Amino acid sequence: MSVAALAELVRGASHLIALTGAGVSTESGIPDFRSTADGLWRDNDPMKVASIDGFRGDPIRFYRFWGERLGELETKRPNVTHRVLATLEREGPLRTIVTQNIDGLHTAAGSTNVLEVHGCFRRARCLGCDASMPLEVVLAMVAAGQPPRHACGGLIKPDVVLFGEALPPTFGLAEAEARACDTMLVLGSSLEVYPVAGLVPMARESGARVAIVNRDPGPCDHLADVVIHAELGETMRALGEPLALAPSAEPSAPEGPPSPA
Ligand code: NAD
Repeated sequence: MSVAALAELVRGASHLIALTGAGVSTESGIPDFRSTADGLWRDNDPMKVASIDGFRGDPIRFYRFWGERLGELETKRPNVTHRVLATLEREGPLRTIVTQNIDGLHTAAGSTNVLEVHGCFRRARCLGCDASMPLEVVLAMVAAGQPPRHACGGLIKPDVVLFGEALPPTFGLAEAEARACDTMLVLGSSLEVYPVAGLVPMARESGARVAIVNRDPGPCDHLADVVIHAELGETMRALGEPLALAPSAEPSAPEGPPSPA
């Protein structure tokens, strides 16, 4: 299908939401899970390095594995897809971005209403007393040979959802948005990770129109009014033209980590 059909659908929306996945950030240099061939999950068992049981069992190993990778995220910048979405919120019908990404790049691009349903790598949280702090504080503790423990004695975990964990309360807001929207734009997600993938049939059953842009075919393609299998950058750049959007802002540096709560 064509970008013109996608533009038509966006133009007709009055309550548009975007559901984004790791594919939105690959053009910023952050590999996704399914289409990457870098061997990350071939050489490292995700149930050890990305599960809550693995974390509790060996938090030092966890931080050693993720420390460098999370630090690298600091250097990444928003790409054209993040910027077009920010413009669609500022000048168009986009109300909310529901993102599975933990990289913070939607906010760095200027989007304000972002539901990070899998958390954000910049923060960490004490599993004992729920205190929040910048992740870099914990990385520095581990680098200095200290255990990642808060003053209360609780383990401190990056504020991202690990395998085996429940989703945060923001997911309830995402479900409400999926039911309330009249149009959903799904970008760069394999839609294989639940419960987030369930938001697409939920929106559809509530009467919303659905558009999917993804390089590879996916399990919800048959539910969509518009499906485009292409690169996101070129598609979103082309979408901006008929909508007369001006996604001109240069990529900004991601905001610094939030202050401790
Ligand atoms: P996924 O890796 O399962 O699927 C990504 C999809 O994006 C693939 O189907 C691929 O075809 C498509 N894609 C990749 N680059 C593209 C491009 N340039 N243009 C068009 N399509 C492109 O991602 P998911 O569905 O988000 O699920 C993965 C899970 O891993 C999520 O829960 C997420 O939290 C996490 N994750 C996050 C990040 C991040 O924060 N950037 C990165 C990797 C994984």
